[in-house]
Amino acid sequence: MSAATLLRDVFGFDAFRPGQEEIVEAVVRGQNTLAIMPTGGGKSLCFQLPALVREGITVVISPLIALMRDQVRGLREAGVEAGALTSGNTQEETDAVWAALEAGTLKLLYMAPERLASGGTIQMLHRAGVSLIAVDEAHCVSQWGHDFRPDYLRIGELREALDAPLAAFTATADAETREEIVQKLFAGQQPATFLRGFDRPNIHLAFAVKDGPRNQILNFAAARKGQSGIVYCGTRAKTETLSRALADASHPTCHYHGGMEAEDRRVVERRFQQEDGLIVCATVAFGMGIDKPDIRWVAHADLPKSIEAYYQEIGRAGRDGAPAETLTLFGPDDIRFRRQQVDEGLAPPERRAADHGRLNALLGLAEALHCRRQTLLGYFGEEATPCGNCDLCDKPAEIFDATTPVRMALSAALRTDEWFGSGHLIDILLGNLTDKIQQRGHDSLPTFGVGKEYDKRQWQAIFRQMMGHDLLRPDRDRHGALRMTDHARPILRGEATIELRKDTIKAAKSGPKVRMLVNEEDAPLLSALKAKRRYLAEQANAPAYIIFNDRTLIEMAERKPRTLDEMAQIGGVGAKKLESYGKAFLEVIAGAVEDMHPARRKLAGRSEGAVYDRLLEVQANLMRGPHGVDKPMSCSASVIAKVANLRNPDINHLTRVMGDKYAERFGEAFLEVLEGG
Ligand code: ADP
Ligand code: ZN
Repeated sequence: MSAATLLRDVFGFDAFRPGQEEIVEAVVRGQNTLAIMPTGGGKSLCFQLPALVREGITVVISPLIALMRDQVRGLREAGVEAGALTSGNTQEETDAVWAALEAGTLKLLYMAPERLASGGTIQMLHRAGVSLIAVDEAHCVSQWGHDFRPDYLRIGELREALDAPLAAFTATADAETREEIVQKLFAGQQPATFLRGFDRPNIHLAFAVKDGPRNQILNFAAARKGQSGIVYCGTRAKTETLSRALADASHPTCHYHGGMEAEDRRVVERRFQQEDGLIVCATVAFGMGIDKPDIRWVAHADLPKSIEAYYQEIGRAGRDGAPAETLTLFGPDDIRFRRQQVDEGLAPPERRAADHGRLNALLGLAEALHCRRQTLLGYFGEEATPCGNCDLCDKPAEIFDATTPVRMALSAALRTDEWFGSGHLIDILLGNLTDKIQQRGHDSLPTFGVGKEYDKRQWQAIFRQMMGHDLLRPDRDRHGALRMTDHARPILRGEATIELRKDTIKAAKSGPKVRMLVNEEDAPLLSALKAKRRYLAEQANAPAYIIFNDRTLIEMAERKPRTLDEMAQIGGVGAKKLESYGKAFLEVIAGAVEDMHPARRKLAGRSEGAVYDRLLEVQANLMRGPHGVDKPMSCSASVIAKVANLRNPDINHLTRVMGDKYAERFGEAFLEVLEGG
């Protein structure tokens, strides 16, 4: 079978994701390949599909038992013979894998790298007829990375012994790691290399200055009730307090951090993987090993440590490609804390400078004036146009020329010999005659009282942004006093100007705006489909997305297939899943359509259906006339259906369909709906 057919029939996808096709082709051809793809880019398909096209067995090396078990389960659901040899197996499972190996029916064999240490393994793989080696998380071979796994070094040996092509996958792209992978896995022979873009267009990006952060998180979660999310916290204690606050607001939630017993951590991981709609408040210890494709949101209660960490953490959301949202909170204390962490770390000086650089990049993103995604991708060396899916595209920042106040602030710092923090400097700028100012005679400085144009809060925002742009840095040897950096010199000397955000000076207040995955009309059906999925998942004791992922359910809710043929057209519904679950979900959809008025039912799954519902809403609002005092009137369902079906209508058409009296009350409002208003 061709790759395209398998993609459709086995995996149920209509098309390759960007970059997948080239990689699949190279792997199918038997070339050595190295693919760097962002998390959620769809790496697994790039070896799973070739495994089905090629003769023989594909052995997959992966560091994470939970992920392996999950993938094996997913493949079995899709009708593919796959098995795993891991320490987590029961004897029965292991026996079954061996039996399938001997019978020659197994297509994919997953194993942990530790297995390679036992002498018999390589021989066994040789006998079994391994024709392809796939290495997931290939960066684990790098001794300099955080995820180094010594047993990964044996993979090179395995490749030579089996003389099979090797395909390596990772999301970590820096040039040094890449080089090391080529050395250690491919004996220095450059494989066909694919570097796929970093953009994750379905993830909405947003930052907010802390202003009652606990409520900011609670509001964010409230607007996304019932959706799975992660709240990353800067401290272990905060994971517990925030989790309690969310529980009080009746969200299903738990906390997770490195100080918990291993067993307790595993319980949380398992619950998160299986349950739909659980919120985990966690430190960054919660990450590696989380392979849940339907995480709908990630919030940072505290600023992450670098732009890479940020990218990786938000990247856990929306791996299924359906819309996902993020919110990162930050404030001056975060900046101080992260700087201090770098300064107090044990890294050699060059590393520390690089770490400050990575933090700067993140702060630059936090204080960005234009599209966040452009800024983020720019850091990774990619050009992009404004994305339309970040807070700054949604609502452009108000910007002002801040050169004068920035110079004032720098001057206040310099004239006090860079020995003070922002609080005291702001008192100087505002001309506050505090004890400290009097004691040190700072009221006689030329900068005393020059900044009265801004109030205290505004000055705080200016100082925060100056730290964010790395013009001022807290010095830990001076108890956090702010010192000017070289970046600030041109501004001080009048050779450069600087713009800052005006709107983050006033804190933006926004209540919970409920975000929906589908339009209002389809929301009840989507919930019903999810309930069916939950039921089936519980029966199978499997995570919900193994049945169908969110994206597939969204498409079902929108397109409302009525037959198995139509169902097969939905993305994510392959032949095996169609057979296992098609009927059950068709019944749910038919049930929802059943509950509709017959006139409305005829429009199900068509854009006119949504128009019909809008017309009903508008009609309800005008039932008693524009001022709510007239005689109640409403059109019959069949008239509404006729209106919804009108092409290029004007008021005359409407009058003909509805009659004068009705057209007078509803005509104009209906026209607006029909024109897409
Ligand atoms: P990662 O690159 O992080 O390993 P995965 O392989 O887990 O990503 O894939 C992420 C998600 O994308 C999965 O839910 C998978 O089913 C989905 N996916 C992969 N390829 C496609 C495709 N061609 N079309 C639609 N969804 C896809
Ligand atoms: Zn944008």
